[in-house]
Amino acid sequence: MSQGQERFLNYSQLLSELVDGRGRTLNDTTVAFLYQLFPNDLFVKAFSLLETHNLFLYVWDSIDDVALNDGVQCSDAEIDETSNSVAGSRLPTEGHQCHSKRNSNDNDISRLANMLYDLETRSKTLHRIIVQSVDEEVSKKPIYVDVTAWFCSCNEYTKCFSGMLHNNGDEGYQGMFETYGNETDDNFAKVNSHTHVNSSKVICQHLLAAAILLQTSLKVLKYFTSVKQSVSLFSINNKDDWLKLHLNIVD
Ligand SMILES: [Zn+2]
Repeated sequence: MSQGQERFLNYSQLLSELVDGRGRTLNDTTVAFLYQLFPNDLFVKAFSLLETHNLFLYVWDSIDDVALNDGVQCSDAEIDETSNSVAGSRLPTEGHQCHSKRNSNDNDISRLANMLYDLETRSKTLHRIIVQSVDEEVSKKPIYVDVTAWFCSCNEYTKCFSGMLHNNGDEGYQGMFETYGNETDDNFAKVNSHTHVNSSKVICQHLLAAAILLQTSLKVLKYFTSVKQSVSLFSINNKDDWLKLHLNIVD
């Protein structure tokens, strides 16, 4: 993979300051700065997704074989097979108002959020982010975001990505990536241990919203899922439900 250009701004650190130290209120100064940092009202749109109950985060949470085959250790999880499973009716389907608008209970949200930020479990915990299309978008199909691979299924991302590839050739490909001169704790748009995607060039509102949740800090994730409760966080511990979740998105 290309070395790309050097990166200086620690986005994870900066976006972590979206909320105060206790994670209870927004830091208005940081919010105002971030409005300016991202182009084309991207931060406004992403922030809107986080505040308007349109983003759903599903976490595979089971000692069942899918997790075990992937090496997941659900060490701190008291698995309860009877609760918090996502029923079929709450899974996204094209053209429907999908999902329950309520989260799991507070303890469960906290435990799931911890799994997504725990150094031992975060890279092994399967998760899926789905964004419900809003009215002004042409397609009513739910949008699938894979923040780990820095991928989004929306048209905005596809245009952005193909534009970089086709308009600039090899130079465009190299321009997609950034590296740090030194070791960094910046996880924002990170695709491997040495490489970050150039998030000023390859990004969309859904990826930015997802990265704010999963690539900043635990207090930010808990702010939107537990304090403000504007992002729904569900556990899935049933393979059929997990497959339905995929089948509804992948044609
Ligand atoms: Zn997108």
